[in-house]
Amino acid sequence: MRSAEVAARPKVLSGFRPTGPLHIGHLVGALDNWIKMQETHECFFEIADWHALTTEYADTSHLKEYVEGMALDWLAAGLDPEKSTIFVQSHVPDHAELHLLLSMIVPVGWLERVPTYKEQQQQITQRDLTTYGFLGYPVLQAADILVYRANVVPVGEDQLAHLELCREIARRFNSLYGAVFPEPQAKTTRVPRLPGTDGRKMSKSYGNAINLADPIDETRQKVLKMVTDPARKTRKDPGNPDVCPVYDLHKAFSDRATLDRVNVECRRAGFGCIDCKTELLTHLEPVLRPIQDRRASLLQKPNLVREILAEGARRARAETRKTMELVRAAMKIDTGERP
Ligand code: SF4
Repeated sequence: MRSAEVAARPKVLSGFRPTGPLHIGHLVGALDNWIKMQETHECFFEIADWHALTTEYADTSHLKEYVEGMALDWLAAGLDPEKSTIFVQSHVPDHAELHLLLSMIVPVGWLERVPTYKEQQQQITQRDLTTYGFLGYPVLQAADILVYRANVVPVGEDQLAHLELCREIARRFNSLYGAVFPEPQAKTTRVPRLPGTDGRKMSKSYGNAINLADPIDETRQKVLKMVTDPARKTRKDPGNPDVCPVYDLHKAFSDRATLDRVNVECRRAGFGCIDCKTELLTHLEPVLRPIQDRRASLLQKPNLVREILAEGARRARAETRKTMELVRAAMKIDTGERP
């Protein structure tokens, strides 16, 4: 049972598309922040499976597995179903109804101007993204946020344009039909840059990610093989931590004393890159082990995860139902009998 105190907190909506296993970049970039927000906000965390279809519609063979994996990773990382509402987007059909209604009022030009629309069409060339669903992605995202009348949305810098569009959609709706939606505020948090093992952005598609569920031995191998400062060819060459992806991981996982020591020893060739990576592992492994232990124990109880998601969907629907009643009334849509 959720307390009235929780219900009086600012509402937060956030989520991920289930397109593959979660990696340590997701932990540092979002999950750590969500776990803190559970104490201060009324949180709704969505596994956005319909969003995954906007780019992955042609091959849905892994979708269920990724949804289940994401629920496990979230719970193992520390999202608490007693404190947060954790649900799968497609289990809450009000998202789809609000998406449809909002799509009636959103000019196509607004969507074509979203920077990621053209960028992703150019970058993801192996898929046909000239679809109605892909163009409408930001409207579905706006529906996800507005259907909870969320006040706060944690976003990275690259998502600010989407949130601004959501705010514009809320304003347009409110000006046409009356004030129903608050304009959600962005909560940007500075997070350390987390490169993958090859130095590029950590991403499943580059094959350079350290996944939360990777066995520790595999993580160790990945870290030991990581690229370093390319100018440091031998153990005797001084290195530059500022251009080294291993140091970026140190910044995310190691303590201040270790960071200072690496900074000094690297520059004067005081220790080798293997020493440096081994030191990193002594800080990374204690973060990953409890997550993996909790994941393994949850894997033994598949019904528990299903029950958590079912309860999350029930709580989410209780919230979205109230919003949709306001929306239909504002739009003068016949309320009729609804299941
Ligand atoms: S010592 Fe550490 S920080 Fe320096 S180049 Fe090697 S791995 Fe990178």
